[in-house]
Amino acid sequence: MTDSLLTQPANLHTADVRSTVIQTGTIAPMPSSAKHFEIADICNALNIGLCVVNAARQVLLWNHWIAKHSGIEEADALNLPLEQVFSEPVSPAFLSALKNCLAHKLPVVLSTALHRTPLPLYHKIEPDLQQARMYQSISMAPIRSQHNEACCLIQITDSSNSIKREKILRSHSEILKKEATTDGLTDICNRRFFDAHYEIAVADAKRQKYPLSIFMVDIDFFKPYNDHYGHIAGDTVIKLVANALKSQLSRATDIVARYGGEEFVLVMPHLAQNIAEQFAEKLRVAVFDLAIPHIKSPLFHQITISIGVCSGIPENNDNLLNKADTALYQAKQNGRNQSILLSLCESKEYLEQ
Ligand code: GH3
Ligand code: MG
Ligand code: MG
Repeated sequence: MTDSLLTQPANLHTADVRSTVIQTGTIAPMPSSAKHFEIADICNALNIGLCVVNAARQVLLWNHWIAKHSGIEEADALNLPLEQVFSEPVSPAFLSALKNCLAHKLPVVLSTALHRTPLPLYHKIEPDLQQARMYQSISMAPIRSQHNEACCLIQITDSSNSIKREKILRSHSEILKKEATTDGLTDICNRRFFDAHYEIAVADAKRQKYPLSIFMVDIDFFKPYNDHYGHIAGDTVIKLVANALKSQLSRATDIVARYGGEEFVLVMPHLAQNIAEQFAEKLRVAVFDLAIPHIKSPLFHQITISIGVCSGIPENNDNLLNKADTALYQAKQNGRNQSILLSLCESKEYLEQ
């Protein structure tokens, strides 16, 4: 099909090509089915853009699809170098792909991820309307005319729908990923995320020998709160406490997760013992300052938290989480609304007693 089109002098329009091909009968044999149709009619009926250029990049074929989406008639495009056909610039990536296809006689596919709108093509041509270019998927194939001239067939399809679908799928998968790692009630990290993150954080601190601090946080006298104020009010408190803890974090590498029920855990890399102690106090005060009434809290009459911290450079089988839990138990025993820190060495001594 293309060979027969390209045997014609460059200044003939597609319509002329059709009649010449039919009249001369000197063209290469075509499949019998193709003889029933006019080649130009097929080119023009296709729902893709077709353009053929010669080695000087002059346009030899310009089908209806391109005319429709560029607003440039076939007669105004033929014989002009392709880059001069459009009033807007074509993308440099498109031009260099075209030059490569012509020079090396190899097919080229422009990446739709990198080059979404190489040509100034639009869904609808409306002169005074500022509109976005159509997303395009472009491939180029080297072809030869019957005079053995190297040419290039450019095929353009509208990829707007597939890009829209891809965007929807990506946003769905981001939502699913977020749901899989986020606690539904508090919107902080969930236990599943924590379990995976904790392993990585400990392994990294061990390998690179830097201090890691783990904070276990538990709301004091929460059962009596639920019993007195109800489960829905209890949920609200869990959310408020989660927000108060989260608001104390400033580094991207620090996380707070809901460990379960009314318990939370914070993982803070590069946080040494003395700073961890001060930070635990900030957490305690942040929740205390919420001043949520709790008449069943025997000492404080408001919502408070207890915090167990374990801090240090982990080695071998050190279990920071267990030790933070031990520290939390001590904080509860000592009267609640306070934090206890065990460094890795001290906690070893404590456990050995
Ligand atoms: P302590 O000061 O020793 O921590 O006492 P506590 O009453 O807080 O501890 P306990 O473990 O006895 O009670 C925890 C309560 O937390 C039990 C349960 O009713 C409540 N709880 C756990 N998960 C949720 C939740 O998702 N929503 C609500 N509203 N309550 C919860
Ligand atoms: Mg608890
Ligand atoms: Mg509790």
